[in-house]
Amino acid sequence: MEFPAELRQLLQYPQNTAIFSHRNPDGDAIGSSLAMQHYLEQHGHTVHVFFPSEFPYEFDFLAKSEDILIWDIHTEECKQVLDKKNLFIFLDFNAISRIDKLGEYIQNLPGKRILIDHHLYPDPIADFEFSEPEASSTCELVYRFITGMGDQQKINPTVGKCLYTGIVTDTGSFRHATNSQVFRIVADLIDRGLDDTAVQDRIFNSQKVKNLRLLGHCLANRMEYLPEYRTAFIWLSRRDYEEFEIQRGDTEGIVNYLLSIRDVKLAAFIHNQPTIVKLSLRSKGDLDVQEICRTHFSGGGHKNAAGAHSHASLKATIQKFKDLLPQYKAALLK
Ligand code: 5GP
Ligand code: MN
Repeated sequence: MEFPAELRQLLQYPQNTAIFSHRNPDGDAIGSSLAMQHYLEQHGHTVHVFFPSEFPYEFDFLAKSEDILIWDIHTEECKQVLDKKNLFIFLDFNAISRIDKLGEYIQNLPGKRILIDHHLYPDPIADFEFSEPEASSTCELVYRFITGMGDQQKINPTVGKCLYTGIVTDTGSFRHATNSQVFRIVADLIDRGLDDTAVQDRIFNSQKVKNLRLLGHCLANRMEYLPEYRTAFIWLSRRDYEEFEIQRGDTEGIVNYLLSIRDVKLAAFIHNQPTIVKLSLRSKGDLDVQEICRTHFSGGGHKNAAGAHSHASLKATIQKFKDLLPQYKAALLK
């Protein structure tokens, strides 16, 4: 990472800073945003974190998560606070459309933009860009950003908790997208006072009973396995949403169960949310689901984890997904 003098100046003096992350924020979005907030506050910045939509409750143990401004809920307050901001930091997304109306609102507000992200092909939306698609997580990049600024000593247990949250969730508890740096970073966080098992306990052992029942329903009644394409998928209808009282975040991680089938190379979760059909794709090895999402569904993400939205019906979207498989057969069977 390189730090131009202008950027160092900007960060080391108190600014009125806004931090943004993507719709349906995950552990990395929340962890990186709050870590950056706790870090910049030590430089005297006034910081607010903004998300387009709500975050899953299992992350509410992170300090200051209760102060996050959600556009869908606090629209007027978001506008008022944003009007005074002069520094805008984009974390864990690569296109302004990923923050929906927040993106439109800040379009003409004056102030420098900083992007720190690990998704492929970022749009040119920032004055200072730290984009590394090989990184495990945005939290890994935020750690390297802070240390690159020479501020290692500002990584206290509060910052460490947030950074660890993004690293552990984006790597599926160190099962994918790892690299040797990730383990060194986590070792350093532990040396600086992080209780890593306590964080894992908060995140992964906080399921609601209804979510386990939903998972059972998905695996027993909504899973299709296509061995000839080494593909499995789960679908959920609007009726399932009503019956299981599914709320935002309740379906997080369900797609990953499909990858645990030995021969599966491609896993999909296709579900009918109130207004759109959402696709989540996961893969093993070289199969590039980001390319599938981008080419066929105007989505994006990473090589092994990508997503998209569709305005077609659930049935049509499932059919389109199935119809694509023959053209990827060589890659699926490799
Ligand atoms: P998930 O399937 O968990 O929602 O998302 C997996 C990855 O794909 C995440 O990195 C997320 O940012 C990205 N992603 C999910 N949905 C979309 C989408 O509609 N458009 C784009 N460009 N990326 C998405
Ligand atoms: Mn991420």
